[in-house]
Amino acid sequence: MKFSIFSLMRQALGHHARWPAQWRSPEPKAAYDAVIVGGGGHGLGTAYYLAKEHGLRNIAVVEKGWLGGGNTGRNTTIIRSNYLWEESEAIYELSVKLWETLSDELNYNVMYSPRGVMMLAHTVHDIQVFKRHVHANRLAGIDNEWLTPEAAKAFCPPLNISPKLRYPVLGAALQRRGGTARHDAVAWGYARAASALGVDIIENAEVMAVRRDARGAVEGVETTRGMIRTKKVGVVAAGHTSVLMSMADVRMPLESYPLQALVSEPVKPVLPCVVMSNTVHAYISQSDKGELVIGAGTDAYTSYSQTGGLHVSAHTLDAICDLFPTFRRMRMMRNWGGIVDVTPDRSPIIGLTPVPGLYVNCGWGTGGFKATPGSAYVFAATMARGEPHPIAAPFALERFTTGRLIDEAAAAAVAH
Ligand SMILES: Cc1cc2nc3c(=O)[nH]c(=O)nc-3n(C[C@H](O)[C@H](O)[C@H](O)COP(=O)(O)OP(=O)(O)OC[C@H]3O[C@@H](n4cnc5c(N)ncnc54)[C@H](O)[C@@H]3O)c2cc1C
Repeated sequence: MKFSIFSLMRQALGHHARWPAQWRSPEPKAAYDAVIVGGGGHGLGTAYYLAKEHGLRNIAVVEKGWLGGGNTGRNTTIIRSNYLWEESEAIYELSVKLWETLSDELNYNVMYSPRGVMMLAHTVHDIQVFKRHVHANRLAGIDNEWLTPEAAKAFCPPLNISPKLRYPVLGAALQRRGGTARHDAVAWGYARAASALGVDIIENAEVMAVRRDARGAVEGVETTRGMIRTKKVGVVAAGHTSVLMSMADVRMPLESYPLQALVSEPVKPVLPCVVMSNTVHAYISQSDKGELVIGAGTDAYTSYSQTGGLHVSAHTLDAICDLFPTFRRMRMMRNWGGIVDVTPDRSPIIGLTPVPGLYVNCGWGTGGFKATPGSAYVFAATMARGEPHPIAAPFALERFTTGRLIDEAAAAAVAH
């Protein structure tokens, strides 16, 4: 069903009793041309672009739980493209451009909201780093501008710019096209559009083994809903990538950490933009429901537990209270964790693997939601052609043996 004012009115007149399921839930077939493991935004988007841009229709997305139940549905949805290195600028800017038209493309409202992302500088080093980002981004045609503390406060009135703060706000880098989107709508929108193109979305099917033939090439995946034969497997499993890749005897340069977020009780619109501070480590925005959406840091230790230490969230709230004294009386309603897959250079891995037919898209760590459309677009092209899309090429797994790292870790210190 196409969403339009007319279909909405028809359903309203029918008391919303006749909405069809938004995607098909078929039984898995015995074989597919390609199987995507992981029903998060990146996996579902990959299936959509494989079908739409490359004409592959006999595809399945295999998800162990429910769609978007991984990091896609757990993140704080910050979208921006003001990264330092050219390779990162290319993929994150492709994403921002795709975000701008994604609701139309999918005929599904992903609620992309370019309300501006402001990154606060608290030290002389921060100022130098952010100004370097501003100049690099502008040279690449990406919007980013430097604000004085007063201009930052004018853009975000609740911000505390008192010089008495231990880490005072000395300025900010603002990307006006940055913002947020509705995370689960992204998963549902891609699922719905992919399903309409013939992609089978198979939930509650955990991949337990990757089968390889005598040459070592992929010949299928063993799932809790049976064996599925295929010569192309794309692993898009975020925090569980190492587990899946070890099923094909591929060791990944990844560590998996819990990362937490929390939301407050809902209040009227009070925070007009996204604010990030790497130095005191806090980031915050306000959802359309009115909740303050707050992101904490990763735990110090690796874990698959999907819960993080309370002290990590508490530290973030301390920083938020410093930066926004008016929020001190707010109550927090929920907190949760996701498992993020972190590479040594804090940049993703997209591409081929040593196993013929096995492709991987991972390592997005704490910052991959913003990349969902671009990552899915270039990964689909990579899987369809059997060679890296030019934007994906620098993010190949081999960079950890060649040493051609894309060191956003050193450039940004944090990657949300
Ligand atoms: C608290 C938090 C805050 C974040 N904030 C931001 C932010 O503000 N901005 C930003 O850009 N990014 C952010 N991120 C990162 C972002 O969420 C991720 O990089 C991105 O969502 C990854 O998407 P994905 O589709 O690759 O992974 P996921 O959505 O995690 O999807 C992977 C799927 O694989 C499935 N799976 C795993 N193993 C198997 C198996 N064996 N068989 C079948 N299926 C399997 C999982 O169930 C999961 O659904 C944040 C993450 C967290 C946890």
